[in-house]
Amino acid sequence: MRRPSVNKPMVKLQMSNDLRRAMRCLFNVPPQAYAFIEGRSDCPDIWGVALMYPYLDGTLFLAEIQGLPQSLDPCAPAIYGFHIHEGDSCRSDAKEPFPQTGAHWNPGHCPHPSHAGDLPPLFGSCGYALSLFYTRGFMPEEAVGHTLVIHAMPDDLKSQPSGASGEKIACGEILANEDASEDLR
Ligand SMILES: [Zn+2]
Repeated sequence: MRRPSVNKPMVKLQMSNDLRRAMRCLFNVPPQAYAFIEGRSDCPDIWGVALMYPYLDGTLFLAEIQGLPQSLDPCAPAIYGFHIHEGDSCRSDAKEPFPQTGAHWNPGHCPHPSHAGDLPPLFGSCGYALSLFYTRGFMPEEAVGHTLVIHAMPDDLKSQPSGASGEKIACGEILANEDASEDLR
């Protein structure tokens, strides 16, 4: 079986507009919350968008990320922990990336991986990841004021308090789409 070469160029966010048009047709509502995700200073290629649509008493969550780190080992897992953290800021300091993101967002006081902020891990392909899922853990507006964080390693969905998913490599502040911006639709 032929494995994809690690030298393939990174996939860019070229599907976004078509995807958003499809979402608009499906749900006929704009996303109520969104985040622009950026990599920390030594991962400047990471960039992405997350859109949260109200759907069936929960949230339909669409995330599209490019520039995820790629291993030179073609068999290395390209799986990244992906969570909503309780803090509201992606500011970094000299010691640590995104220290103000804090722990996983956990309004229900549950163990990991039953936090409201525990999301399906991102599966990267040539640095690109696309994820669409439904959660009844929160409504889009409830996630506003928190932060989305991508981790360097897979979430083991077991270790406390955060799945042993390693360092925070990218972050986005979740904002309300108050004016139902057409740009995000
Ligand atoms: Zn968690």
